[in-house]
Amino acid sequence: MDQLGTFHSHVLIFPFPVQSHVNVMLNLAEILTLSHIQVTFLIPEYIQDDGPRFKRIFERYPGFYFEPISDGLPFNHPRTGDRVKELFESIDATTKPEFKNKLNSGDLISDGRAPLSCIIADGIMSFVIDIANDFKLPTILFRPFSATCFWTLFCVPKLIEAGELPIKGESNMDKLVSSVPSMEGVLRLRDLPSFCRVENVSDSQLQHVVSETYRATRAYGLILNTSEDLEESALGQIRTKIPQIYTVGPLHAYLKRLKALPTSSGLIEEEINCLLWLDDQPLKSVIFVSFGNMTVLKRHQFLEFWHGLVNSGKPFLWVIPNNLINDECEIITEFMKDGEKRGKVVDWAPQEEVLSHPATGCFLTHGGWNSTLESVYEGVPMICWPFYADQQVNSRLVGEVWKNGVDMKDKCDRRIVEKMVRELMEEGRREEFMKLAQGMAKLSRKSVSVGGSSYNNLNRLIDDIKIMSHQK
Ligand code: UDP
Repeated sequence: MDQLGTFHSHVLIFPFPVQSHVNVMLNLAEILTLSHIQVTFLIPEYIQDDGPRFKRIFERYPGFYFEPISDGLPFNHPRTGDRVKELFESIDATTKPEFKNKLNSGDLISDGRAPLSCIIADGIMSFVIDIANDFKLPTILFRPFSATCFWTLFCVPKLIEAGELPIKGESNMDKLVSSVPSMEGVLRLRDLPSFCRVENVSDSQLQHVVSETYRATRAYGLILNTSEDLEESALGQIRTKIPQIYTVGPLHAYLKRLKALPTSSGLIEEEINCLLWLDDQPLKSVIFVSFGNMTVLKRHQFLEFWHGLVNSGKPFLWVIPNNLINDECEIITEFMKDGEKRGKVVDWAPQEEVLSHPATGCFLTHGGWNSTLESVYEGVPMICWPFYADQQVNSRLVGEVWKNGVDMKDKCDRRIVEKMVRELMEEGRREEFMKLAQGMAKLSRKSVSVGGSSYNNLNRLIDDIKIMSHQK
């Protein structure tokens, strides 16, 4: 932007149409906007209609534009992890042609917007690279997965070649894999991304995520929401294939610092009530429970978690959105009423603020990458119960590499839930977990502070975008 308020750089941001990918790319969008880059953000129509939260944030920025795009699914589709294949198919059939039309129509540069400098697209939608090429636009891909998961997906052909995939029966699951360089001795078969749990390696979903990962080599560069300090080994390997990497995470923390936000600013009443409830709880006493926006629990799994939490005797704050449990809703409603005596049940919580609250002592999570980064940043020990995608890998990082929590993957038993909660929250090993969690928090804070690796990489990304605009 020059002194007359004219923008010279304009980025089109295109997230994969699920809530957490949209959230994290909105963080990136806000950072770019605050760095005087104009942004047009392709927001999925179904989220746009639910969007006062976003609107409130972005209406103050003159250089920011929302542009709705369809994901091709009906509005009431649950968009949960077990049905992501339907999303891949509908994106191909509906979103891809709509995206091309939008570029063709000139709508994205109407209202006096500057010409596009580049496109930042979710890395699971690599079709953007070819379409953008037709318009002579560079594409930078953004993968909101852990770098370790990205690298593991890159190694799937090697895993197949070495006969490590397909997995041969349940009894084999604890076997260490040897075909993911730098992860030897860490990843077991059960820790591979959930897409690898197939009997036939020609499975269409596995093939899709692997080929999308490879296609990242054709983009101008790759943005990863992680930091050198958190995932040095995997990043070293990825760089041998994709030299232009921007590790910029954790983005939520960078943004918070950039805006110097007081905690809980801009929250709605329901969210403030969560924090008021926490204010009344003793220091580090509460288990925060959230499985993200795409996990589905079966009734018996819900009950195991419920009883485990109740038997632990600790207060809990549990986020139960309406797509979490796939059957027997009346029973769940009864439990929720009962739950008010032992803790608080909500359908949405201000997660970042909850994790930074002094009353929060532990996070029972599905290990989604955003949740993992947010918990690491606040120094909250985790119990991870991964559901799908990269969560199997992320929970291994927590339990085995960083050791700032425990991994209860593939087990869903009230006794284990209770045991793990006690381990993390009662005297004994609690201090050990707290110390390791705080050490990780320190590393992650360092990376987004002035001069830290993510701080420097974000500035490099911003400079590169500005250079691209001058080359137009
Ligand atoms: N989130 C939140 N409140 C909720 C549930 C989720 O703020 O009640 C946010 C959370 O902070 C995180 C994102 O939604 O940023 C969930 O992303 P993650 O990658 O952990 O999981 P996913 O939803 O993709 O499974």
